Amino acid sequence: MALSDIQDHIAKEEARMGRAPGSTQLIAVSKVQPLDRVVAVLDEGHRVFGENKVQEAAGKWPDLKEKFDGIELHLIGPLQTNKTRQAMGLFDVIQTVDRPKLVRAIARIAQEEGSCPRLFIQVNTGEEPQKAGVLPEGLGELVELCDELKLPIEGLMCIPPSDEEPSLHFALLAKLAKRHDLSGLSMGMSSDFERAVAQGASYVRVGSAIFGARDYG
Ligand SMILES: *Cc1c(COP(=O)(O)O)cnc(C)c1O
Repeated sequence: MALSDIQDHIAKEEARMGRAPGSTQLIAVSKVQPLDRVVAVLDEGHRVFGENKVQEAAGKWPDLKEKFDGIELHLIGPLQTNKTRQAMGLFDVIQTVDRPKLVRAIARIAQEEGSCPRLFIQVNTGEEPQKAGVLPEGLGELVELCDELKLPIEGLMCIPPSDEEPSLHFALLAKLAKRHDLSGLSMGMSSDFERAVAQGASYVRVGSAIFGARDYG
């Protein structure tokens, strides 16, 4: 699908659900994609991108940020505490805050640097042992810690289990966000972004549907 097709699908779903036009932002997930495909999407005017590895993003985005104005880069993969400073320098939004140690590291560096990326908490809605994200029952405590440390949290992010109906997880994430008075919802990927828009996503994260399949070879 072309970028414009995805945007059409988002707009149609917003209209169908009575949501404001443009209330869902599209994050183009560029991980593992060859540079020419990424540049093609930048040339089309798109500016919001997602990467899931700090190292990989550090290899391509500083250059691209110099060449193209207005890029907004989201970290959507797990963040190791020892890469926090590098990630905070590179990303405009970190969507994968998920544990007290990381919250404390971000707070300390934010104080030193006098600036902080926008932050989302990742919730492991499917309670999968191998997956990152705070468990739903631990969310309240993590939000409180962020409050104490004066770290503003914009919203919640989730990656539903691949073998379950994603809408149930999107609805759960929306409920948790409401309970904690958070407006941002990052949910939905290539196969289910329309269902995420229907459940109130403020960001959908779409990779292969825009860029084509990822070649890990
Ligand atoms: C890779 C990735 C995506 C995009 O997946 P597609 O199926 O290619 O759209 C979205 N979110 C996260 C967290 C990812 O790692």
